[in-house]
Amino acid sequence: MAFNNDEEKSDDYLFKIVLIGDSAVGKSNLLARYARDEFYPNSKSTIGVEFQTQKMDIDGKEVKAQIWDTAGQERFRAVTSAYYRGAVGALLVYDVSRRQTFDSIHRWLNELQTHSDMNVVTILVGNKSDLKDAREVSTAEGKALAEENGLFFMETSALDSSNVVAAFQTVVKEIYNILSRKVL
Ligand code: GDP
Ligand code: MG
Repeated sequence: MAFNNDEEKSDDYLFKIVLIGDSAVGKSNLLARYARDEFYPNSKSTIGVEFQTQKMDIDGKEVKAQIWDTAGQERFRAVTSAYYRGAVGALLVYDVSRRQTFDSIHRWLNELQTHSDMNVVTILVGNKSDLKDAREVSTAEGKALAEENGLFFMETSALDSSNVVAAFQTVVKEIYNILSRKVL
């Protein structure tokens, strides 16, 4: 749920967004690229949940996205319900060069739906689009899966930055639009 913080301007918005998907698909690097314009060629997952707050300007309003990273929990299939609690948006990430991570998407979608108490604005993200020679999942397959499940879809590369900002912004804009329609 979006909420206003009393200590801040009343027109401020804060949305919780979660990153989910198999280990090593690039979740932490998508966040690093988006939040700090950094990339880690050999990142190792660490234990414990972390989040980062990013400011965005949408229609002249300051919107803050609190983006949560699993920080390695997913390796043990131990993403807790606390991780999902209150999330209004999700980036559901697979690696276009590893089909197995695409096959896991159904399980992640299920988990997201089980743990969240509302419709979560979700984008399916095929990351590592730079790995052209190693590709195992086509753009058409990604698009089709997204359409079947009513998700937004984008292919990204945390390495070369392609579509990274766009993927996060798509989710935040949609949440903002839904909420502002409800308020009006
Ligand atoms: P996470 O476990 O989902 O958080 O994945 P990480 O962000 O830790 O990334 C796992 C590995 O994939 C790291 O070695 C990254 O450098 C690499 N990686 C992440 N994103 C990309 C990308 O867009 N392209 C390429 N080529 N490698 C990536
Ligand atoms: Mg990670």
